[in-house]
Amino acid sequence: MPGSTEERGSGPPGPVQNPEIESSRHHLRNYQMFPGHATFYLKGHFQSAGKPFSVLVVFAAIAVPAGLFFGFTAPWIWNNISPSLPIVFSYILLLCVMSLVRSAGSDPGILPRNIHIETSDTEKREAGPLNIAPLSVTVNCRQYDEDRPLYLPINYCTVCRIWRPARAIHCRDCDSCIDFMDHHCAWLNNCIGARNYRYFFCFILSLSLLEYFMAALCFLHVFAWRHRKSSTTSAAVRCAPVSFALAIYGVLGSIYPTALALYHIFLMSRGENTREFLRSRRVNKLERRRPYDTRNIRRNVLYVVCAPRRISYIRPWAIAEEGDRRLEKPSSQ
Ligand SMILES: [Zn+2]
Ligand SMILES: [Zn+2]
Repeated sequence: MPGSTEERGSGPPGPVQNPEIESSRHHLRNYQMFPGHATFYLKGHFQSAGKPFSVLVVFAAIAVPAGLFFGFTAPWIWNNISPSLPIVFSYILLLCVMSLVRSAGSDPGILPRNIHIETSDTEKREAGPLNIAPLSVTVNCRQYDEDRPLYLPINYCTVCRIWRPARAIHCRDCDSCIDFMDHHCAWLNNCIGARNYRYFFCFILSLSLLEYFMAALCFLHVFAWRHRKSSTTSAAVRCAPVSFALAIYGVLGSIYPTALALYHIFLMSRGENTREFLRSRRVNKLERRRPYDTRNIRRNVLYVVCAPRRISYIRPWAIAEEGDRRLEKPSSQ
């Protein structure tokens, strides 16, 4: 219902006879008729592929240590070392949380389904998946300096009933075709695609930085205290046990996001995404091709990180217009 804070895309309501209900349909938003697996919040401004429990776990893994840091370590650093250090920590934390929200809660680049399906076609669909062969397009492959053209498959999605772009793929978790799909992140409970890849990258990069910085400041607290008191390390740990525990947590917690950030820097420099890289491993090394590699690492990275953000094709927050309405919900195949 319009105005609710949580709504699951579940297709349009059936035939309506009541004039009041009929008039309320004019105020439906696009997310209320979204057929894929997504739960929408705040009138379609945030979304998640189901209940976002894993996102809350990730948020808690960031927020709880940060709260302990501000409670036990930051005051000592502020008063005895420099106020600038907790301020820088706060900025990195803000960057990390905002990136988390944007990557986990925004439209990753969902391609709209074909909603104008004829009745006769519906009967064909019920008989089974369409047997449509993939198309291929020839792309310029100058970087390999070969006569042999490179073909990119343009596949037809029998669920969304669209010809999807070359780098798009249908995600089973989201039940939608995602433009430039990198992977479906189980932790963020959202696909990582054309519209939120840079936020995802910013998140893992800022999370790595946050963990390193927290570990460094907490170790600084312990060892600076020991130096000032001319005491032993064990006495300093007993005096600041929370800081010491946060330092260990920061070191251990930085390993996974750092490895992930380096992996994605590697992928971006090659002009590939995760799916393309993993799929290329199945092919003989001599046969591997990277059609989106410009042969310039800086340009490859800038293309992903600095290119204008693509528009949302589904615009879940927008008021649905007459042509956007599905007259019937196609069955999944
Ligand atoms: Zn699809
Ligand atoms: Zn997905």
